[in-house]
Amino acid sequence: MFSRDIGIDLGTANVLIHVKGKGIILNEPSVVAMDHTTGKVLEVGESAHRMVGRTPGNIEAIRPLKDGVIADFDVTEAMLRHFINKINVRGFLSKPRMLICCPTNVTKVEQKAIKEAAEKSGGKKVSLEEEPKVAAIGAGMEIFQPSGNMIIDIGGGTTDVAVLSMGDIVTSESIKMAGDKFDVEILSYIKKTYKLLIGERTAEQIKQNVATVFKDSRKEEMEIRGRDMVNGLPRTITVYSDEIGEALQESVSLIIQAAKTVLEHTPPELSADIIDRGVILTGGGALLHGIDQLLAEELKVPVFMAEEPMNCVAKGTGIMLENMDKVESRKIV
Ligand code: ADP
Ligand code: MG
Repeated sequence: MFSRDIGIDLGTANVLIHVKGKGIILNEPSVVAMDHTTGKVLEVGESAHRMVGRTPGNIEAIRPLKDGVIADFDVTEAMLRHFINKINVRGFLSKPRMLICCPTNVTKVEQKAIKEAAEKSGGKKVSLEEEPKVAAIGAGMEIFQPSGNMIIDIGGGTTDVAVLSMGDIVTSESIKMAGDKFDVEILSYIKKTYKLLIGERTAEQIKQNVATVFKDSRKEEMEIRGRDMVNGLPRTITVYSDEIGEALQESVSLIIQAAKTVLEHTPPELSADIIDRGVILTGGGALLHGIDQLLAEELKVPVFMAEEPMNCVAKGTGIMLENMDKVESRKIV
């Protein structure tokens, strides 16, 4: 019977849903707005994200997967249900198969609960898959060959570095340093240097529009507004690429270090492949200006940005589900 396979990238910053034959049909921030007094979920996704930093006392905009772990399981489950219901799985003629990708540090118990939540929302056969593997497939890497492939996925909460060969992870490392921490670093830099308090969203805008981590490769400036820490009044300042780059230096060096550790633990034959093929960057954090150049310089291997790095995991789930079909039909023959 006709059924559509569904792939879900349950990210710390964004949730993407891929439906077979249709492509990515949902892409929303992993944010839930809750009313504390009633415990009710008010908004999920894009509309909840607009509330971050702008809520009155009783309402809180929560990121349930903050730092790459499930900070609040009930809210995560509510969010997942909301998104699956939004694409109206129940309207499909038969129950779809689902492949869900969640952060690498999610515990076994949490994985089981995610599976159950997806099944309750209308999934038939729900499976979970490791994120770096799916990201690599989505980035177009040939990970099923007996050769080394290295991927660095920089998300919102975690950076995952992995070397894959013959369809599996050979060496890997996951650190809690990624896009969100960059924002925090920018925020504290502005606070310390200019005695100005800014919001998370402003910090993220600075990161995207001004920052560079490869010296002298970007010359932008931006006017930002915040609250003066001394007199409490609104104030405007201008920030420049160079200073933001310096503020991010330490954070980025942790990512470089994680990549170096993985390379050190990689069997030599696979290291040789990586020199030939290069390292692929995925995830939204990989869009940080200059990080590809800096990594290439530090790791001494070519570094390439994946096409549409924020969509790799979702695309990868689609490719994997299709391959499952092939594997299953081969079994029948
Ligand atoms: P996750 O997989 O954890 O949900 P994503 O891969 O969706 O994370 O990436 C989200 C992160 O990417 C956020 O921290 C966001 O600020 C960052 N990001 C998105 N676009 C850019 C950009 N142009 N420059 C720098 N960072 C970016
Ligand atoms: Mg991700």
